[in-house]
This record gives sequence, C-alpha cells and structure tokens, in this order.
Amino acid sequence: MKNNKELYLFPAKYVLAFFTIASLVFAGCNSANEDLAKKESIKAKKEVIESEEEAPEKETRDLSTKEATGNEIDKNKEINTGKENLSPTLDIAAGNENFNEYLPIFMFHYIRDYPADSPDQLGYRLSFSPEKFEQFLKFFKENNIQTLTFWDLKDILEGKKKLPEKSVMLTFDDGHLDHYQNAFRILEKYDMKGVFFIIANRPGQDGNYADWEQIKEMSDRGNEIASHTVSHLDLRTLSKEEIKVELEKSKEILEEKTGKPVISFCYPAGKYDGQIISLVQENYLFARTTKAGKHFSVSERYEIPTVRMFPDTSVSSLRIWFKVN
Ligand SMILES: [Zn+2]
Repeated sequence: MKNNKELYLFPAKYVLAFFTIASLVFAGCNSANEDLAKKESIKAKKEVIESEEEAPEKETRDLSTKEATGNEIDKNKEINTGKENLSPTLDIAAGNENFNEYLPIFMFHYIRDYPADSPDQLGYRLSFSPEKFEQFLKFFKENNIQTLTFWDLKDILEGKKKLPEKSVMLTFDDGHLDHYQNAFRILEKYDMKGVFFIIANRPGQDGNYADWEQIKEMSDRGNEIASHTVSHLDLRTLSKEEIKVELEKSKEILEEKTGKPVISFCYPAGKYDGQIISLVQENYLFARTTKAGKHFSVSERYEIPTVRMFPDTSVSSLRIWFKVN
C-alpha cells in the first residue's frame, strides 16, 4: 500500500515542483520586463521642444510708476558690463527684501525671417524678424528704455544701482547662430545688451548654433551668457544626480569659455518642479521660466515670468507695455 501511495504521490511532487519553477521563471521575466521598461523610460528623456503652452498675459497690468524718492537715476551712467562685482552671491540690500517691480523680460527664440506659410508652424511661431527686432531697439532708444541683464538686477537688488525709470530685459533661448548674426549685431548698433541662454553641448553644432568664439565675443561686449543646461532635456524626467550634472556642468563649461561667473538659468521649455528649483538655487541666483508675467520680484526669482515674443508682436504692444503714446 505504502509503495502504491508513493507511486501515486510521486508525479504530484514533480507537478508542484514544475509549477514552482515556472512561477519563479515567470516572476524573473516580469522583473526583466520592469528593467526593460525602466530603460525605455530613460530613453524617453528626450530633448524638449519649445512649445507655446502658456497663453500670453492679458494687457491688464499697469506700468508701476517710480515716484520721486530723491533717487534719481543717472541715465548717462552705463548700467553694467558684468565685469565688476563677479562674486556669485546675492546680498539683498535692506529695503529690497520685497522688491517687486514692473520689468518686462522678453523671450526670443530665433531672430530670423521665416515664411508665415511654412509647414513648420512652430518654427514660424518661434521666429522674430531682424527688421522688427531693430524697430524694437529703436523704440527703446527713443523712449529711454534701458536694456538690463541679471547682473544689473543683482546690482539693483544689492542697492548698488537704481532700477531705471523704464527698463526691459531681452532674453534669447537656445544659442542659435542667428542670435550672434542678427540679435547681437543689432544690439551692438544700438549699444544695448541681452541675456543669452546657451545649451552647453550645442555651440558650433551643425552650423545652427553660435560657436564658442562668437559666444565669448558677445560676453566680452557686455551681454550676459547664462545657462540653459547641458543638453536641453526635460529636467523632470531626470534623476537628482542627472539634474545636478545638467546644472553644474553647464555652469562650469560656460564659465570656462567666457571667463565670467554664470549667475542665471533658464528651465528647458519651462519644465520644472520643487526639487529642480532647490537644486537651481544651489548654483544660480536667478532662473527664468516660460510663464507669462511682466513683474520681477525677489521672492519669485527662481520662477521669473516672461513675455513671449511672437512673429506678430508689434511696436504697438510696446507702446502699451511701456506707456508711450
Ligand atoms: Zn530652450
């Protein structure tokens, strides 16, 4: 009987063993699949393309007027060349802790002529004609509107300079070659300056980006060279360590190439979260976003709003924004 029972149970043991092994193999495959999925998600950290997600701000805010405080601005005095006070710390002067002023920060992408009927509509929407860019600068000149950089803002916050009665900041994203060929050339003509957010692994690439020599020249002429990461990835898709590399390495490269500290940053395609902000704070004094707004405040200096420039943004908008008839 005993033998019979063993005979009967014998295959059952093997069946059980088979299922145990099979389930282990299955679980193994599953975790292999998870690994694969993780790898795929790493691959999905693709370069972000500039978008137009944010609606333009409505023309409702008023230009804050500077009341006479006895702090007259010396309009003849050069605002800043970025060559003095290079220490990358921000010592906010007493009284400026709640600084919040009207300061439109324009965001340009390409400064080029681009056909409005092109199938690449995004390319068109990100383009701004050099001719109109010049009209803008002419308008600023005629109306005594000063072009500032973040170096100027640092000096203003530290109480070393006064905010001019009317100012604007011109920022250029991505380091395109036409920034050097068109924007810089026209800025020079009007003795004005801009902030250029450079993607540190791009300069000179494919003939589409300004090269290091051109970037150095713009920097030497008083324009601010600022960081737009190393590789223009959506920072939210990266690990903490990877984000740190994007922030630290880009700063290091740009500082080495220009010989000046880099104090400002721009989030690729305006994508960020709380962790990213705190890592940016460890490396920079200012960070511009893509959200719409025309005020600059100390409390928001790592989420600085901007005014997106469209191909059809016109001088009549400038008249409204700067209260010029
Ligand atoms: Zn960008």
